[in-house]
Amino acid sequence: MTELQCDVVIIGAGATGLTIATDLQKAGLSAIVVEARDRVGGRLRTETVDGAVLELGGQWVSPDQQALIAMLDELGLETFARFRDGESVYVDDTGSATRFTGDLFPTSEETQNEIERLIALLSALTAEVDPSEPWNHPRATELDAESFEAWLERNSADAEARANVALFVAEAMLTKPAHSFSVLQALLMASSAGGFGHLVDADFILDRRVVGGLQRVPVLLAERLGDGLHLSQPARSVEYADDGVVVTTDDLVVRARRAVVAVPPNLYGRIGFSPALPPVRQQMHQHLSLGLVIKVHAVYPTPFWRDAGLSGTAFSPFQVAHEAYDNSGHGEGTGTLVAFVAGETADRMLALTAAERERTILESLAAYFGDEALSPTVYFESDWVSEEWTGGAYAASFDLGGLVRWGAHLRSPVGPIRFASSDIAGEGYQHVDGAIRIGHEVAAELARDLRG
Ligand code: FAD
Repeated sequence: MTELQCDVVIIGAGATGLTIATDLQKAGLSAIVVEARDRVGGRLRTETVDGAVLELGGQWVSPDQQALIAMLDELGLETFARFRDGESVYVDDTGSATRFTGDLFPTSEETQNEIERLIALLSALTAEVDPSEPWNHPRATELDAESFEAWLERNSADAEARANVALFVAEAMLTKPAHSFSVLQALLMASSAGGFGHLVDADFILDRRVVGGLQRVPVLLAERLGDGLHLSQPARSVEYADDGVVVTTDDLVVRARRAVVAVPPNLYGRIGFSPALPPVRQQMHQHLSLGLVIKVHAVYPTPFWRDAGLSGTAFSPFQVAHEAYDNSGHGEGTGTLVAFVAGETADRMLALTAAERERTILESLAAYFGDEALSPTVYFESDWVSEEWTGGAYAASFDLGGLVRWGAHLRSPVGPIRFASSDIAGEGYQHVDGAIRIGHEVAAELARDLRG
């Protein structure tokens, strides 16, 4: 065992942990990061698969994500716009595909009006919710006790409108069925992204990508950190008292004045805390879980859909792949589609053989873009749920009633230990922007605390 000492030991080298470590270094404090994997970036990962460069985890940047945009500027990273010229495609419950432009899906006029009415109701409610403390909304208890699905049923008799509005939060964001999370959780998701209107506007929320991939952010931060980063060192235990902590990994014993657990909350239970964490936290952690989404890449010799006047953007609450986009790389001649399969549909897909799943998902892409979509040269599914050090995607959310019951404890320290990740960020929640925001906040608090 190698013994090390520093001001702050950080568990996890994702965007959150590395933001904290580099901020602390700038503030003149010493930081050590221990990372379970043999790479940095956690849920950000760029890989070359059969010759195609693919972003397997987080990738898009939206204009409101100012903390992330400032970080990209600081690191000298360039961005490029997602390809979106041409018409989008919507597939209805009969499997019929319709081309459209703009945000509003081409349903019947009645259903369109109903979708707009529901979005207006949800936008007004979202505006009342502070993403850093949604549990303080005057009607928080009531809003956290009703499922998003039940709320939609209570507010609309139009099943297609309900399915479409549910899609924006359930499949597309929390990646859980709409009956499993509360209205308040849905409002938190929307308010943390700057409003419900942003969730329904793919051009806004999925605006730009980073040249070289979003994993460049943690990679460049890690370079700044130098030998303060220790890969392949999962934290196994954290012993703590008021005046300090000892974090033990497979090969290291790190003594520090403070610790930050910068891992998703579903993994807190894999670390042995001594003394045990307070009862309220033990309970809270069991009610926070990651969603489930399979991110699928299909690469073709050319972006054939563009020749047909299509943008590559497609939606359907009735298809296996509920959304798809043109995800061709910067300056590449080949064409790449990315599609997402979430929640209970992902459960069904994961029960199939790999070959059956690939065929079914490609048939779904063909429903949007025609039979050429059936024959990619590269096909790849990101399987985050099987990754030992993640366990799902995109991020964590509470089950019904959890936000009100435990939310106020989410970010509170336990003795010298702090908790931080995009899963428990307020603004930017679930996104890299939230990881960087909470990272800056925690680093600033620690710097104040340690400097006395
Ligand atoms: P993580 O990235 O999960 O980092 C935690 C780190 O802790 C990991 O490196 C892990 O290996 C390590 N770790 C875990 N346990 C231990 C332990 N015991 N000891 C040591 N280390 C440990 N966000 C966007 O902004 N835009 C997107 O387009 C987008 N798309 C996404 C698509 C997918 C498929 C996924 C999975 C996520 C997406 N996200 C997106 C979300 C975004 O990637 C995450 O919110 C963000 O990267 C989380 O950063 P983090 O540092 O908080 O957590």
